[in-house]
Amino acid sequence: MPPSNYPLQALLEQVAQGSIVDLLREMIAIPSVNPFDEPANEDCRELEIADYYQSRMDHLGLLTSRRNVVSGRPNIFGRIKGNGTGPCIMLAGHLDTVGVTGYSNPFDPVIRDNRVYGRGSCDMKAGLAAFIEVARIIIQNDIELAGDLLIAGIADEEHHMIGSKEIRENGPIPDFAIVGEPTELEVCHAHKGQLCMHIRTYGRACHSSIPELGVNAISHMAKLIGVFEDYNDELMSRPPHPECGHGRFSPGVIRGGDIASSVPDFCELEVDRRTIVGESTQDVISEYRKRIEPLTSSVPDFHYEIGPVTIETAALDTPLESPIVEQSAQAYRETVGQASELKPFNGGTDAPNLMCPAVICGPGSIQQAHTLDEFVEIDQVTDAVKIYLRTVLAMQQVV
Ligand SMILES: [Zn+2]
Repeated sequence: MPPSNYPLQALLEQVAQGSIVDLLREMIAIPSVNPFDEPANEDCRELEIADYYQSRMDHLGLLTSRRNVVSGRPNIFGRIKGNGTGPCIMLAGHLDTVGVTGYSNPFDPVIRDNRVYGRGSCDMKAGLAAFIEVARIIIQNDIELAGDLLIAGIADEEHHMIGSKEIRENGPIPDFAIVGEPTELEVCHAHKGQLCMHIRTYGRACHSSIPELGVNAISHMAKLIGVFEDYNDELMSRPPHPECGHGRFSPGVIRGGDIASSVPDFCELEVDRRTIVGESTQDVISEYRKRIEPLTSSVPDFHYEIGPVTIETAALDTPLESPIVEQSAQAYRETVGQASELKPFNGGTDAPNLMCPAVICGPGSIQQAHTLDEFVEIDQVTDAVKIYLRTVLAMQQVV
């Protein structure tokens, strides 16, 4: 059936809430906690959920493939081939979740008050479940797509985003993408980037009873922090991004010294910088250097080092007039009955690494993501399927 002839209303009525909820529960029950700086292990089973997700796509008849990003942590792809006359659209979601310290029964999904509870329910296994339902409806109705529909299950969004960075390097690069992070279905076309790095000061250790013989790295770090006192004021004085606002700076972690009776020879600060489109890592490092460098002449024995970078995620800025923004906003309006606010997303996502115009749109609220009582409203998951389906079908006309 060509996409222009599909009976949209009949397709939307096929959205099967029961099977989406079953799928979501099965995925919550697989602990796919991000191992963060550790190797994959039995508590962090991204491989298991990747296998599961791929098998569900195989079962429906998608052409699936996988690539290991690192050992035991693959990206999974499923493709429904189009006839080559329309754009390739990717529905993308991450397979990992944040940790569960303090969370009672995180992997025992509970249904209550028309919600599904459990770790990963909204962030973002609900989005992944919705993608599968979109594929099921397209395949089982023999809808002939103009462009390929790609579903991507991505590793490691919650830490360094090595999964989507691998896609950035090795493809597949779609023409448009929808990332199903929790936005309560609102369409978000922009977000800030994040750049975290260490800044270190070095001194000379000695007994603290004769501190004048040493160089105190902590005291030097205090002076260094001081030079950033008005940095946020400077950032706020620059032209803002129209929706995301200004870049921001925050010192977040400090380490230094062993015992009080020694003058410390080392101190390390970890700083967080939220960037807007147009601010590169090199730009930011130059700004830091410009502020710190005068200390090397005004403070005796002042030695510092910038780096390494610990987190680096890009900003997203898809133009409002991009077809993926317009069509997903229209799909939101038709499904929810009101206009999307088109606000920026709070936080970073895989979207900029997909190297195409992309929006963030998914079931669940960022308020529940990463909490110890995570849930998603079931009605939002079924509405997500309708929004994705409407968007994918409308995008078939885009050339
Ligand atoms: Zn997420």
